[in-house]
Amino acid sequence: MPESALQILNTVFGYPAFRGEQEAIIGHVADGGDALVLMPTGGGKSLCYQIPALLRPGTAIVVSPLIALMQDQVEALHQYGIEAAFLNSSLDAIAQRDVETRLRAGDLKLLYVAPERLLTERFLDLLDRTEIALFAIDEAHCVSQWGHDFRPEYRQLTMLHERYPRVPRIALTATADAPTRREIVERLGLDEARSFVASFDRPNIRYRVVEKDNARRQLRDFLVAHRGESGIVYCLSRRKVDETAAALVEDGIEALAYHAGMESAQRAHHQQRFLREDGIVMVATIAFGMGIDKPDVRFVAHMDLPKSLEGYYQETGRAGRDGLPSEAWMCYGLGDLVTLVQFITQSDSGEERKRVERAKLDALLGYAETTACRRQRLLAYFGEARAEACGNCDNCLDPPQTWDATVAAQKALSCVYRTGQRYGVGHLTAVLRGEDDERVRQLGHDSLSVHGIGSEFDERQWRGIFRQLVAAGLLATDEEGYATLRLTEASRAVLRGETVVRQRRVADRAERRASRKSDRNGKARASIDIAPHEAEVWNALREARARLAKEQGVPAYVIFHDATLLAMLRERPQSLRELGGISGVGESKLARYGEAFLEVLTAA
Ligand code: ADP
Ligand code: ZN
Repeated sequence: MPESALQILNTVFGYPAFRGEQEAIIGHVADGGDALVLMPTGGGKSLCYQIPALLRPGTAIVVSPLIALMQDQVEALHQYGIEAAFLNSSLDAIAQRDVETRLRAGDLKLLYVAPERLLTERFLDLLDRTEIALFAIDEAHCVSQWGHDFRPEYRQLTMLHERYPRVPRIALTATADAPTRREIVERLGLDEARSFVASFDRPNIRYRVVEKDNARRQLRDFLVAHRGESGIVYCLSRRKVDETAAALVEDGIEALAYHAGMESAQRAHHQQRFLREDGIVMVATIAFGMGIDKPDVRFVAHMDLPKSLEGYYQETGRAGRDGLPSEAWMCYGLGDLVTLVQFITQSDSGEERKRVERAKLDALLGYAETTACRRQRLLAYFGEARAEACGNCDNCLDPPQTWDATVAAQKALSCVYRTGQRYGVGHLTAVLRGEDDERVRQLGHDSLSVHGIGSEFDERQWRGIFRQLVAAGLLATDEEGYATLRLTEASRAVLRGETVVRQRRVADRAERRASRKSDRNGKARASIDIAPHEAEVWNALREARARLAKEQGVPAYVIFHDATLLAMLRERPQSLRELGGISGVGESKLARYGEAFLEVLTAA
């Protein structure tokens, strides 16, 4: 009797129940239907083609652009006792022929191939003589010319449908926006496919945005709460990646750098270490991350403002695929805004494109500046309305105070105007605070009426006020890329007292000191909570996993995910049978590793 999808989920993968639409998708594809699956990272896309592959006769062909990760994906399947292989340029001729032989013999349930390999006549000939269970097109947004993951070969994948009209196709992506969706349907000829669109919420990720002050110190404080955990720190430039990684190493943190300017062997080595070892912090440009399916990335930190909310969502989405508490942290200030505006205005793209980019930046600023629930804002951007605040973002947990900043705004705008709209925040603040510095005197700004009218705020508070004015369009930064500020159309109404300006209140020095201390004491921490009395067993479980992973040269998570170790810790199974009941312990892994983990659990 053929097994059911649920039986496979239970026995092979060791999970008790399907998530969301997995069951419907699997049923549809197993019955021969085409599907387009839009699910956030960590939503569980892989099972949507892996289980149909096991249910249908023949071999499933999985198209993926992620050559560097295929080996790990295949290894993960081996751990479940599933016959799988990959074909890409990293294999030598002998290994390649071996895979082809196994394919012809019908020994493989899944075969991962790079698109350029799939499209060769040689490979298609081979497929003509193979029973194909289905085609899975992973990272399907690579067909989109507008995304930064564009792969021209993906465009040719329509031929699969023409050449093998009876084989079901399932296209999968975590890219949420509507234009990309439409492009996938059109470019892959999926008009007949059934669409499955999951919610894009990632409830286990806590969102936090902090005002940039001393970025290096702020990052260090943030990382204190995440000591020993794996995470990614994104920076805008290669140079900043190198500097930040070096600074973290100096602080005793295991940090590695990753950017496109590095030698490719070194880059691959760093990626490999990040995937295989526990607790590495990867400092990277956005060149890093697509398809990284390491499930236990506990945090993603942005040292600079990303270019769009789409990018931000994708990058932060790499945290917490295993569903355990994780954190998305961003440190942002006026300087970031100036840099990005400069990028846009100085790029040589056309006016239309610049307008689009500017609109994307504004959406991002709206997110960064909001005093309401960040998750609501993020999901709304992707067209998902959510009635309730989430309770798991900084604004929900610690609602910011807002205040009527109209008078402060008028002072700031007057100061910009009186000084000739040619200075940046540093100088403007010095004038407002009535500082007696040389530059102020030299320029004669000490004799202006605005000199000293803003001594009630410290420098940091003025910086916050100016930043919010720029973000709200009440001031503009210079197009040439100097950080100088000038008035806008909207400024006038404020100066005339016709507009009320509400702002997030910036804490004064004493409040900042207090909040920094409580941050360090872990108040804002979103992490796996291991009680002191559990620490010993938890560490022993992790050590057992690390040892087994090392013996086989595979990433630790391929043995068991953190979520599975955590279930062991909490439920303390005392027999193989009980261990088999833990979520994530399937038959094959129970046979391989049951004894080793039971030893730890019974000794505790
Ligand atoms: P995606 O490819 O959508 O980012 P994955 O397929 O890697 O996500 O799945 C994310 C994580 O969720 C993996 O650790 C996977 O084992 C786990 N997972 C998927 N489906 C289930 C399920 N039904 N029950 C429990 N865990 C699941
Ligand atoms: Zn919230």
